[in-house]
Amino acid sequence: MRSEHKRGQAMMAQDFILCGNCGKKMRCIENGVTVVSGTDNRRGDMFECPECGNKVVLNFGHWFYDPELANVERALGKTVIEL
Ligand SMILES: [Zn+2]
Repeated sequence: MRSEHKRGQAMMAQDFILCGNCGKKMRCIENGVTVVSGTDNRRGDMFECPECGNKVVLNFGHWFYDPELANVERALGKTVIEL
């Protein structure tokens, strides 16, 4: 967890995210969204525009191997995006 915190500090320049459609500040609606490519996974944060509903996923961690993770996350009701 400590290393996660330090990595976050390196990204301080990104203090807000603007919607490319309408220019509103996007808000984080889900942390730890799983992105799956085969048996490899990454976690990111999903942001949504409060005006138009546009969504983006960013702040990715490193890839890690877990062939079962996508199914577990879906069962928990979390967002899983397959590449
Ligand atoms: Zn928007």
